[in-house]
Amino acid sequence: MRVHACPVRFYYERKEPVSESDRYAVCKQISYHLGTPLDEEVIWQEIIAVSPALDPALKDFLALCITACNKGEWKPAVQTDVKVVSDKMGIVGMIDRIAADGTFSIVRAAGAMPFGTYAADRLRISCIAFCLEEMTGSEVKGGCVEYIPDGVSRMHEVQPRDRRQVIATLHKLKSIKNGDMPKHPLNAPCNRCKYREKCESSVGKRLSELL
Ligand code: SF4
Repeated sequence: MRVHACPVRFYYERKEPVSESDRYAVCKQISYHLGTPLDEEVIWQEIIAVSPALDPALKDFLALCITACNKGEWKPAVQTDVKVVSDKMGIVGMIDRIAADGTFSIVRAAGAMPFGTYAADRLRISCIAFCLEEMTGSEVKGGCVEYIPDGVSRMHEVQPRDRRQVIATLHKLKSIKNGDMPKHPLNAPCNRCKYREKCESSVGKRLSELL
């Protein structure tokens, strides 16, 4: 959902391959073991089997994540890495874990907010809900976001505004794919963005800086 955070940034990076972060490689591997004892050595061996060039210092991060996850209760997965599709919406998604009671979750390598979930996570849960509803014919109320470094699993119930956001984001994506340059959004996360100069020189002062 990079297009949601800033469509201009997405446009600049549209031809760059998306690579998995080292922290994600660690969190993802832990996720396969949630709901069962988390053995640091076993998980580390799996991580370096998957990513042999990973910095050995990441083992400390693994230990921190395991300590955090051991404080919570986790449902073991009965299925992992399940691809979901909505032909109607033209979207494909991936569920990281499905529990025996049918609840699904996605895995994040980020820390959790004090309350709620990040906008991009809500969008991803909503996209998966669209796909599952089309695949099963039943309404999907929501799904969990698992913030592994903090050991937090947070349920997000899909709201109508999330569904509207998905539809609007898909429209933006379509027009970028058609070659249109997106408009600069007022609330884009420009402070932390490496394209700030490029954007400022292309549009002059941003309105949000003048207000
Ligand atoms: S500087 Fe702002 S508008 Fe430009 S790409 Fe970055 S986040 Fe988007």
